[in-house]
Parts: sequence; C-alpha cells; structure tokens
Amino acid sequence: MKHAEVRESLLSKQNELEDRLGRITQHLTKPGNQDWSEQAQERENDEVLEAIGQEAKHELINISAALRRIDEDAYEICDSCGESIPQARLLAMPYTQYCIGCAEKQQG
Ligand SMILES: [Zn+2]
Repeated sequence: MKHAEVRESLLSKQNELEDRLGRITQHLTKPGNQDWSEQAQERENDEVLEAIGQEAKHELINISAALRRIDEDAYEICDSCGESIPQARLLAMPYTQYCIGCAEKQQG
C-alpha cells in the first residue's frame, strides 16, 4: 500500500474539514440582526451546523491519529494484536487501527 497516497488523501480531507469547521465557527459567532421569526429559523440552522461541526471535529481527530500512524510506520499494524490489517479493510475504513477480529472484540 502506498502510504504517500494515503497520506495525501488524508491531508486533503483534513484541509477540507478544517475549512468547513472554520466557516461553521464564523457563522455561529456572527451576531444575528434578524427579526424574531428569522432568529428562530437561524437557531435551528445553528443546531444543524453545530452537529455538522461536531462530526467534522471527530473526523479530524481520526485523521490526525491515522496520519500519526503513517508517520510511525504503524498504519497497517493492528493496535491490539500487532498483525497487519488487510488492505481492503484500510481502503474501506482509512482511519481504522484494528484488524477485523480485534475491531469486533472492541465492539462486543
Ligand atoms: Zn488485531
């Protein structure tokens, strides 16, 4: 597996998410000057934006963990049993740190 390519795609995803988070933060901190009905609508939008922001933050944490694993040359190594994680799994779940067997054990 080409780590440089994975790294590249993680970094571009990271940029995209940081950009999105920046715009959400900007929007949420913008003082509202609408009338009451518009403010209510605005609050609903803000809640949706906050949820998206939380999701983006969570994904950013996963991305930086994956990048660190690449830097440490541990990207394809299961954190739990030390076996290598199959490429197909890494392609499907680029942020995973466990092989399928260990991931199932973690969940159950
Ligand atoms: Zn494992």
